[in-house]
Amino acid sequence: MTTEKTDRSNLIPFSSRLREGRALAQDVWSIFNAANLPADCINLGQGYMNFAPPKWVTQGAEEALQSVAPNHYSHPKGRIRLREALSNFYSPRFGRKLDVDSEILVTSGQYSVFTAFLEQGDEVIMFEPFFDQYLPSVTFNGGKPVYVPLHPPSKDKAHPSSGDWTIDIKEVRAAITPRTKIIIVNTPHNPVGKVFTRKELEDIAAVAEEFNLLVMSDEVYDCLVFDNNEHVRIANLPGMWDRTVTVGSAGKAFAATGWRVGWLIGPPSILTPTLAATTRIVFCTNSPLQEAAACGLEQAEERKFFETQRDEYAERRAILTNVFDELGMVYSMPEGTYFVLLDISGVQFPEDYPFPPSVLGRGRDFRPCWFIALEVGVSTIPVSEFYCEEHANIGEAYARFAFCKDVDTLKRAADRLKNLKKYLK
Ligand code: GLN
Repeated sequence: MTTEKTDRSNLIPFSSRLREGRALAQDVWSIFNAANLPADCINLGQGYMNFAPPKWVTQGAEEALQSVAPNHYSHPKGRIRLREALSNFYSPRFGRKLDVDSEILVTSGQYSVFTAFLEQGDEVIMFEPFFDQYLPSVTFNGGKPVYVPLHPPSKDKAHPSSGDWTIDIKEVRAAITPRTKIIIVNTPHNPVGKVFTRKELEDIAAVAEEFNLLVMSDEVYDCLVFDNNEHVRIANLPGMWDRTVTVGSAGKAFAATGWRVGWLIGPPSILTPTLAATTRIVFCTNSPLQEAAACGLEQAEERKFFETQRDEYAERRAILTNVFDELGMVYSMPEGTYFVLLDISGVQFPEDYPFPPSVLGRGRDFRPCWFIALEVGVSTIPVSEFYCEEHANIGEAYARFAFCKDVDTLKRAADRLKNLKKYLK
C-alpha cells in the first residue's frame, strides 16, 4: 500500500475567499487575549465588560429559560416582544413610528446587509481606522473595500479630542467610482471615539444621495455619548431614511457583549432583502437573550438606565485620561464609546525583546502594545489593525484602551500605567 505515508491532514482545499479580508491572519483580539498574556495582566484590550449585565435585564433570560416558547426558534425577524420594545424605544429617536413587521430586524451583526446588496466587484467605502470585522463582511460577499482616512489630530495639539479626527469630504467624493454601492458610517466610532457632527453627516448624506449609495450606519455605541455631545442619526437627515440601515446592539447597551443580539432599523426596501439573507445564514438569533434585551429596553427609560450608565462610563474614562495627563502623554479624549486612543509613539522598548511570532510581522505598534502588556501589566489593542496594510503606519502611533471595566480595575490599571514614565523618550 502506498497510501500509508500520504499526508491526510489537509485533504480538502479551503475556499480562496478566506484569503481575502485578512480572514487567515490571526485576529488582533486573540493575539491580545487574556489567555496569551500573564494571568495578572489587566485586560483593557478587547472591548468587553468585567461586570455583569443588570439583574433586572438578565432576569428576562432566566424567565425565558423556564418557559417553553423562548427556548425554541424565534421568527427570523426577531421575537415580537423585542421588536415591539425596539419600536417603542427607537420610534421617538427616529422621529417616526417604526413598523415592527417591516422596519426592524433582530439579528447578530451587519453581515447580511452586505450579502443582500453586494454584487461581485461592488465597492464599499469605509473610513480608516475601521472596525476590523467590516473587512471580511465586504470581501466574503464579493465586495471591494475602498478606504477614506479620518485625519488624526495634528501633532502639536496638546489635548486633542476624538472630534479632531476629521474627514475631508473631497476625499470621499474622490473615492467614488461607478462601482461604489455602500458607504459605512460608524458613530460613535470604534476605535477613535469620535461622534460625527451633523455637518459631517450632512456632507456624507449629500454624497450618498448624489451617487445613490446605501448607508450602513453602525451606531452600536449610541448609548455612550459624553459631555452633551449630540448623537446625530444619519437616517434622520432629509431624504436619508430610504437609503440607510442603522445598526444597534444589546451587547453594548446592557453590558452583554456575548449575547450577540443586535438589530437593524431601516426601510422595508432594505430590510426585506436583508431578512431574506439573514434567514438563510443563521435563520434566527438566539431566543432567550432576545427576551432579556426586550426586558432591558422596556424598563431602561423609567430606570434612567442609559443616563446612569453613561455617567458611570464618564467616571471610568476619567481614571484613564487623568493618568495619561499625569504622564504628559497625548490621547484623543473620546466623545463617545468606551475606547480611548493613546499616542504611544514615544514609548521605547528593546528591539530584541522576546516578542512572540504572532506579534512580529504585524504593525510596529503590536510590539509596544505587547511590551506594555508584559512590563507594565496592562493590555491594549494596537490600532494598525484598524487600517489597511498600505496605511497601517498611521495607526502604529496609537494603542486603544477599553474602559468598560469596573472602577477598581481601572484604578489598578492607572497605578500600573504610571510606570510607563520610565519608557518614555
Ligand atoms: N467590538 C469589540 C471591540 O472592538 C470586540 C470586537 C471583537 O472581538 N470582534 O473591542
